[in-house]
Amino acid sequence: DSSYSFVVWFVMFISCVDLWQPNSASLIHQNATVDVHVNRNDTQGLHSRLKQERIDYRVFISNLQKEIEKQTGYRSSRKRRSEAQYDYEVYHSLEEIQSWMFETNQTHPDLVDMFSVGKSYEGRPLYVLQLGKRSRPQKKAVWIDCGVHAREWIGPAFCQWFVKEAISSYQYDSVMTRLLDQLNFYVMPVFNVDGYRFSWTTDRFWRKTRSKNHKFHCRGVDANRNWKVKWCDEGASSHPCDDTYCGPYPESEPEVKAVAKFLRKHKKRIKAYISIHAYAQMLLYPYSYKYATIPNFSCVESAAQNAVTALYSAYGVRYRYGPASTTLYVSSGSSIDWAYRNGIPYAFAFELRDTGYFGFLLPESLINPTCTETMRAVKAIASGLLKKCETDRDRFPYI
Ligand SMILES: [Zn+2]
Repeated sequence: DSSYSFVVWFVMFISCVDLWQPNSASLIHQNATVDVHVNRNDTQGLHSRLKQERIDYRVFISNLQKEIEKQTGYRSSRKRRSEAQYDYEVYHSLEEIQSWMFETNQTHPDLVDMFSVGKSYEGRPLYVLQLGKRSRPQKKAVWIDCGVHAREWIGPAFCQWFVKEAISSYQYDSVMTRLLDQLNFYVMPVFNVDGYRFSWTTDRFWRKTRSKNHKFHCRGVDANRNWKVKWCDEGASSHPCDDTYCGPYPESEPEVKAVAKFLRKHKKRIKAYISIHAYAQMLLYPYSYKYATIPNFSCVESAAQNAVTALYSAYGVRYRYGPASTTLYVSSGSSIDWAYRNGIPYAFAFELRDTGYFGFLLPESLINPTCTETMRAVKAIASGLLKKCETDRDRFPYI
């Protein structure tokens, strides 16, 4: 019948478009919202098919190429020569971000330390900035990574914003001063360096790493499906051409392996793991791979609630929050589940703005408000670490 023929057409159609949300066709269900990027030549056919099937749709971006060029063009007018002039309200290339890291490290030796945790598939260093007053040797620590998925450019912009805010508000803002005195922050502005670079040079909507596959021409692994926790099960693909490809084995990606090694080494001190993604406006915590409640649920849940309340207080932007499995979708081999499984009691993934209007092409004019509100949420989570969460500690003494 006609609905069957539509399903056949839809499956064919979805397999040859760039799916933005959800990130796998298997997650599309009845009444779901789907964001897709289609070629200009396919738009007419799609319009008439959707009309024929009476499916509600809207065009958010009619000329994608123009929007892309807005964010990568006019490079000469960008202020980036020195740190004082560095423009945090534009998207920066990998090279710009790395020289900004060197400069930040050099100009703030009292607060900043820069090091590399390893090398990417293509041999690029995986730089991390450590932020915090060097007083006590065994401070609690917070890990923040951005740019796990290459096309989510607001991520690296946030990590840079966080570093700038931390440095410039230290000794002026009492909360930040306390945080940097009592905690260390490990900030990794670009986790997936090869993919991020590729999203600037070749394919703006690239998501995965850039590793090669023996049997298939498709490159890259989803760096948020490659962790050794229920690896390659539900919500991950074993096909190298899929956007959620889990890789040939856990930690096959040098980027994942390097960060896992660092976190494992410092897991006694690291009390929170925060991964910055886009887009959906959500704050997610474990589990991703199963529908079950984590042991320290009430502590994590109240931390999440405080964070989204703080975020909302800036511009009234609402975030949904909850376990990743029920709030977003089930995914296995994710970094928050891995961090949690390895003893980091607070593991969060942010899905920043927006909810699909601009999607991965969030305009540069929204970098400031998005980062400002997210900053409040991250500060709320970090401040919570300085207090004890008694309820769970009583019930779960091993936390
Ligand atoms: Zn992501």
